[in-house]
Amino acid sequence: MGQQQAVKAQAAAAPEYEVVIVGAGVAGIYQLYRLVQAGANATVLEAAPDLGGTWFWNRYPGCRFDSESYTYGFSFSKELLNEWHWKERFSSQPENLRYLNYVADKFDLRKHMQFNCKIESAHYDESVNLWRLHLAGGRQVTTRFLITCLGLLSAPTMPRIPGMESFKGKSFHTYYWPQEKVELAGKKVAVIGTGATGVQVIGAIADQVAELTVFQRRPNWCAPLNNSAISEAEMAQIRARYDEIFATCARTPGGFEHEPDRRGFYEVSAEERRKLWDKLYAEPGFGIWLSNFREIFTDEVPNAEFSAYIADRIRQRVKDPAVAEKLIPKDHGFGVQRVPLETRYYEAYNRDNVKLVDIQETPIERITPTGIRTSKQDYEFDIIVYATGFDAITGSFDRIDIRGVGGQKLRDKWADGPITYLGMEISGFPNLITVAGPQSGSASTNFPRGIESGVDWVMKLLQHMWKNGYTRVEATPEAEERWTQHVAKMYSTMLMRKAKGWFTGYNSNVEGHEYGRVRYFVYNGGAPKFVSRITEVAEQGFKGMEFA
Ligand code: NAP
Repeated sequence: MGQQQAVKAQAAAAPEYEVVIVGAGVAGIYQLYRLVQAGANATVLEAAPDLGGTWFWNRYPGCRFDSESYTYGFSFSKELLNEWHWKERFSSQPENLRYLNYVADKFDLRKHMQFNCKIESAHYDESVNLWRLHLAGGRQVTTRFLITCLGLLSAPTMPRIPGMESFKGKSFHTYYWPQEKVELAGKKVAVIGTGATGVQVIGAIADQVAELTVFQRRPNWCAPLNNSAISEAEMAQIRARYDEIFATCARTPGGFEHEPDRRGFYEVSAEERRKLWDKLYAEPGFGIWLSNFREIFTDEVPNAEFSAYIADRIRQRVKDPAVAEKLIPKDHGFGVQRVPLETRYYEAYNRDNVKLVDIQETPIERITPTGIRTSKQDYEFDIIVYATGFDAITGSFDRIDIRGVGGQKLRDKWADGPITYLGMEISGFPNLITVAGPQSGSASTNFPRGIESGVDWVMKLLQHMWKNGYTRVEATPEAEERWTQHVAKMYSTMLMRKAKGWFTGYNSNVEGHEYGRVRYFVYNGGAPKFVSRITEVAEQGFKGMEFA
């Protein structure tokens, strides 16, 4: 096709939208805000009936931030920061959803959002340089740019246990906890799974149900959340400190106020180490993980010493020594998987109505119409809660049929793990931008902080294109290869690479994601390095990317 013909073909096939954002969660809302401010013809397509993403879906009891609320909220508007009162240090799901709705309404974003729009496929049409989206129900939408704000943990996974469909009571994955009130009083409830979600649910419902039976495959290393209310006076102090708070978040690897202890583990005495750990255990939030000695993450010896410290804490809190031992992880050390923060979790097991079933000892054989059968006995339940996690990071991409140049499927390209440039661009998939995607800085940080820096970079990219009249951008295969190797190399020093957690792509319920093959999902260099790298790329005219 000659150039003139190509120009004509493109003009004839002008897309319906300049930008389609997929997902109305934290990332989608901020991405939309920036695009609306820039006057772009943009819309959000959201599968759910309303906005909120993670905070729309996860309605299970106990669901709340593990990030300090005031470090989680958006930082882009002083007015918003001054108006919003976070009521708790770690705010709960209903309040978080209210917050996101408040933001959308305040900035009049809702009118740019379309709900109940589940995208089944997204195909790049090279002849006219646009994306063709097919929605459930048959609607078709075209767009020049496709920006995915899919979330990292939005493809829930159920276990594969025979008989699941036969259960006569209520059963659901935590992600799909019903919107209407679930009556728990007087009920016999099972929870399968003891990750960050299971730990929150168990702590929250133990004293509300008649009987709670926890089916645990592997325990996690949990630490206290130490939540508290935020008074008007405290909120005023927080507001006065917002600049400092966000500056600290920008400086720390995890995007939190928690800064790593700069002393070397081996430089201080065992007594001093213990003093630090006692202090961190009593403090709120992720300090126990992120303000610890850095060697905890990379060196087996410090990790073992600290893990022993936490094991003793568990023994002190759980009255029955046999139960305490079952709750102490033996196959991995502290912090190599995502640390669940808990509220009354260990104390739940001191209650007469709570039982722990170790399914390594007595495996679940099947779900029966009335409950769960293990190799040892039958249990009867009214409700079964599956807190069994997610096909993390790439799962929500895999669930859409995304095809790039020449019909290449993203699912195939990423079959052995994601390959990206900066976690936001993919060679062979022009004009597809994966905000907070695999291998971006977001996944291992306080999500919204990573999201904001990702979206800000995307806006620089789009402004660069609009200013120069470019309509097509794509990462080069070389830049993508270098980035993916860079991300992979960082795993080589981390104890996490051996762990059975979602950071490495492990999920026993997803074919091909069983233990053994590390997928390089997460950029482990920390937020400041990530931001400085993407800023440098932008300043160098978006090196590693081709424009047309
Ligand atoms: P998860 O950490 O992947 O935990 C899933 C749990 O289910 C694990 O205990 C797992 O056991 C168990 N499980 C999975 N399949 C099973 C099967 N077939 N049979 C028996 N047990 C099975 O998932 P999650 O707890 O939902 O947490 C995922 C992530 O969401 C967290 O790491 C965190 O990043 C995020 N999250 C955040 C918050 C917050 O910020 N407040 C709260 C909750 C979750 P194994 O360990 O043996 O695989």
